[in-house]
This record gives sequence, C-alpha cells and structure tokens, in this order.
Amino acid sequence: MSVPRVKRLAAFVADQIAAGEVVERPSSIVKELIENSLDAGATQIDVRTEAGGVALTWVQDNGHGIDAQDLELAFERHATSKIVDAKDLLGVESLGFRGEALASLSSVARVKLSSAIAGSASGAVREVHGGKLVHQGPIAHNQGTTVDVRDLFFNIPARRKFLKTQRTEMSRIDQVVRRLSLAHMGVGFSLQQAGENASSKARRFALPAGRINERLTQVLSKSFVDESVVIEESRDDYRLHGWVGLPNHHRRQTDQQFFYVNGRAITDKVVGHAIRQAYADVMFHGRHAVFVLFLELPPAVVDVNVHPTKHEVRFRDARRVHDFIFGSLNRVLREVRPDAVENASAPANTAQEPTTQYNTWKSPSAQPGLVLSGPGGSNSGLLPLVAEHSPAWSVLDSTSKTLQAHMDTPPLGFAIAQLHGVYILAQNQQGLVMVDMHAAHERVTYEKLKAQAAKQYVSRQRLLVPAHVDVSVAEADLVEDMAEQLQAVGLVVERVGQQAVSVREIPALLSQQDIQLMITDLLAELAEFGASEEISRRQLDLLASVACHGSVRANRALSLLEMNTLLREMEHTENAGLCNHGRPTYFTYAMEALDKLFYRGQ
Ligand code: ADP
Ligand code: MG
Repeated sequence: MSVPRVKRLAAFVADQIAAGEVVERPSSIVKELIENSLDAGATQIDVRTEAGGVALTWVQDNGHGIDAQDLELAFERHATSKIVDAKDLLGVESLGFRGEALASLSSVARVKLSSAIAGSASGAVREVHGGKLVHQGPIAHNQGTTVDVRDLFFNIPARRKFLKTQRTEMSRIDQVVRRLSLAHMGVGFSLQQAGENASSKARRFALPAGRINERLTQVLSKSFVDESVVIEESRDDYRLHGWVGLPNHHRRQTDQQFFYVNGRAITDKVVGHAIRQAYADVMFHGRHAVFVLFLELPPAVVDVNVHPTKHEVRFRDARRVHDFIFGSLNRVLREVRPDAVENASAPANTAQEPTTQYNTWKSPSAQPGLVLSGPGGSNSGLLPLVAEHSPAWSVLDSTSKTLQAHMDTPPLGFAIAQLHGVYILAQNQQGLVMVDMHAAHERVTYEKLKAQAAKQYVSRQRLLVPAHVDVSVAEADLVEDMAEQLQAVGLVVERVGQQAVSVREIPALLSQQDIQLMITDLLAELAEFGASEEISRRQLDLLASVACHGSVRANRALSLLEMNTLLREMEHTENAGLCNHGRPTYFTYAMEALDKLFYRGQ
C-alpha cells in the first residue's frame, strides 16, 4: 500500500470545513449576520426568512456599512476589520473577530451582500455562489448593509439532511433573534418568517428600540415582568445586572434562562451551577428558574475564543465568577419578603387571583421595642416558637386591641382564627392574610436550623426518655451510616437492634411531640431519595427534611399567641414567602379584592 502524501487543502475546501463549524444551521447564519450588524453599530436590524432559513435568510441593517474597496476582502477567510493582532484577542469587545462568517457562508450558499457607507455616492454589491464570484458592481443602497443568503447547502446536499424540520429551524431562528435582542435593548429588531405555520404569531414580531418592558414581555412573558426583581450588583470590576424571576415564577424547561457575558449569550457550566445553587433552596423540585442576566467583566479576564461560534467562554478565575454570581443572586432572592406596610397602596389583588406579594423589603424592626405582656404573655409551650425578634409584637395577643390601635400593624397582621386546622387567618392593614401554617413553620424552622448549622452548632435538647422507633433494616443501616451527619443537624439517633433505633436528642427548635413520626418520615425519605452528592447540599437537604418532618402538622390546634408568634417569625425569615419545597406559604387578599368578590360599592 502506498503511503498517502501530505497535501495542503485548497482554500475553498478549507472554507467549507470551517463552514461546518460556523454555519451549522440556518439559525447560526442569522446569529452571525445579526452580530455583524451589531458590530457595525446598527440601531435597526430586520430579518426575513423563508422555509426555515434554507430557501432564504435576509438581514438588513443601518450600520456603518462596508467600503466598496473592502467588499472583496470581507468575503475572504480570516479577513476582519475587528482585530489586528493576537494581543487584541485579549481585550476583544466586538461580537465577531475571526473573519470566518462571510467566507464560510458564501462557500455553502448563494450570498449577495449590498452595502453603502455614509457620504458615498453609491453602494456596492458582491455576489458569491458556493465560493464562486458571480457578480460585483455598484448598486443603490442606503447607509448600511443587506445580506441575502439563498439555497443553503445547495452544493453539499449531505449537509441538508442534517437539518431539522422547517418548523424546528424556524423556532430556532426565532430564539436566536430574541436572545440577541435582550442584550441590545437600544436596537430595534424585527423578524418575519415565511413557510409552514407562517401565520403563527411567533413567526413575526417587531421589537422597537428602547422599550424595555415591552421587549421583556414579548420575549419572555407578561408574568415575568410582574414576577421578577431587578438585580444590580457590583464587586470591584465585576458587575451583574438584569432581571431575576422570583422563585414562584418557574418553568418546566430552561428555555427562558438568558445569560450574557460582556453582551454575548453564552452557556457555561460554572455559571449554570452558581445560579442553580442560588435558587436551590427556594425552587420547586424539578422546575427551572427564569432570568435575564448580564455579567460584565474586564475583557482580559474572559477568553471568548474557545469555540468558533463563541457561545462558550473560559474565565480566568472561574471560582471568583461562580462566587460572585451565587453571592449576588443569593442576596437578592433572600431579600424577597412579605409585603411591607409601606406598600399598602400597591395595586389591589383581584378576587380570583390572590397573590403573595414580594418586595425587597426592609424589616420593621426599627419599631420601638416596647415590651408588652398581654394575657397570653407566657409561651404555652406547645409550639416551640420563640420569637427572637421584635418584642413589640412577639407577645401581643389579639385581645390587646387597645394597644394594637396605637401601633402600626405588622405586615402579616394579627391572627384571628385557625381554619380547619390547616390555615391561619390573620388581618393586616390591607385585608386578609391566609397562611399555610405547616409550610410557614417549616420555612422558619429550616432557616433557623440553617443559621445554626452554619455556625457549626445546632442546639439540641436531650429527651428525658429516649424515643424508641421501629424501622426497616435499610433505615436502621442508614442511621448507622449517617450518624455523624444526623448529629450535625441536631439529631442523636442510635441503632438499637436489627430494625430499631433510639432517638436521644433532637434539635431544640423542634417540638417534642410526634418524634416517632418525624423519624419514621425522615428515614423513609432518606432511604428513598438518598442523600445528595455534594456535602454542603447534603446537609441542607437533611436540614430541610428535619424541618419539614419536625414542623407543626396540620390538624394541630394553635393558640392565638402561637399563631401570632409564627407570623412575626415569618416577617423576619429569609425566603418566608415559600416553603422549602417552593410552595407558597401565604396569600393576601386586599379589602378591595374582597369587596369586589361581594360586588361591594358597585
Ligand atoms: P468578523 O465578523 O469575524 O470580522 P465576518 O466574516 O463576519 O468576520 O465579516 C467580515 C468583515 O466584513 C467584518 O470584519 C466587517 O468589517 C465586514 N462586515 C460584515 N458584515 C457587516 C455589516 N453588516 N456591516 C458592516 N460591516 C460588515
Ligand atoms: Mg462576523
């Protein structure tokens, strides 16, 4: 057999190979062309496609245009106006810089590019079909550039086979335009797609420049605008800003997670992990957060040139990026608390849709700390809820009405009754507050346990008589295996037989009632789901389970004092609007909403 000789590839073949990376599918053409328009400083970009971009992809902009003399060069591989030498790569701020898109594209499709620069008498056009120049000359054109791409992969039929259905390609194009539009609010975009399903609304939209809420509504949803908070955090030369969906605004897919590094949409493991961790405690299991986030870093600390399409990046200090994102989001999500009295004038909830109102809220602890001892001044001891904050309210029983009248009502109001052993009904300044007592107590207990665990010490109470619990063999094994971890969260449990364990100490925060039930439920859960891999996460899971199974259960009568204590604790608890499983802990009905329900004053 003869040894194959090494040969240099013809430039055209090299272009086609490069095209495989840059022009993967029609949506990647749309991305490359829009990025060129953005780099050219366009303020309006219009996109049209036919047949999912295979028959036609057309992008027009009003950017600075291309000088007629440069038109030929623009189609050549590694020809770019954006960087000059390798050191520029360290600080690259343009979206493109590899000089590959037009060369790649014109090697696998019929490309016609027309452009004019400011102040020139006429524009210029250049047409290249599958790498062959077919026409070049002057053309009338406004300042800006129009790229018309037809018959994608006409000369490589094999590549066409890899394309998905027209509908799929259309929705990918739709996504690309939306994704890019979020990072450039000052630029107007429009998209028109002809083809199957062309009548569908998603195939046609216009996003006028500068109207931010309208864009967020069109690209994400109206509810995202209502159920998100603005984030703006800086540390040294790092900045994170944008909108984060509240934990109760979640989705089944990750399709509304938009993350940009220096204006470039990217996917990255480190970033994904930091965000998931920040939401871990408050997100409903198996659901996904919604956000639009922009991370701005000095260009020199992020390498964008790790992938031809540049949707992956490499951070010089990944740990710092991770901690900055996690810390910033964590802080913002934690500030989400029950609505404050100062927001009493917020729009009334409709009667049909009670809402848990979230706000980044200042705690009312600035109240003068007068200590009251009402009729229920001593804790009945049933519910191990000891208010650690705001003595002004902690012992206030609803019978102390005269005193109440002289004070501002706290955000979650005062308890008036317990409904079917499940819900606490309370009255605040705006109207009715309904609290799921188990969910709320669970969150309060969890956050307290977490705070203690963070200080390496969960305070425990020794049981006078150790509680004997019958369990399965697997559960008893688990107790043996996890003894140390259980102790770290305040549970001292020992195996005392094949199928028996003995509980000697429990977290001081938990009620001594139902210990058997708590341990049985906890072990059953651990046996079924196992403990998660990560140590920090594992401890949180355990704390959450302990809090869940150790919190007040339904059908337990609470005194008004206990109820009020719980309400006060909620006001001082991080993430109080959601239980550990991401379910809401309370709803409020403003008087206006109740009046509506009864057609009062109509
Ligand atoms: P890159 O964007 O990496 O520089 P491209 O192949 O995408 O490479 O484009 C080559 C060059 O053509 C660009 O550097 C730019 O000078 C010019 N160009 C392409 N599209 C436009 C446009 N829409 N407006 C102005 N100039 C453009
Ligand atoms: Mg480019």
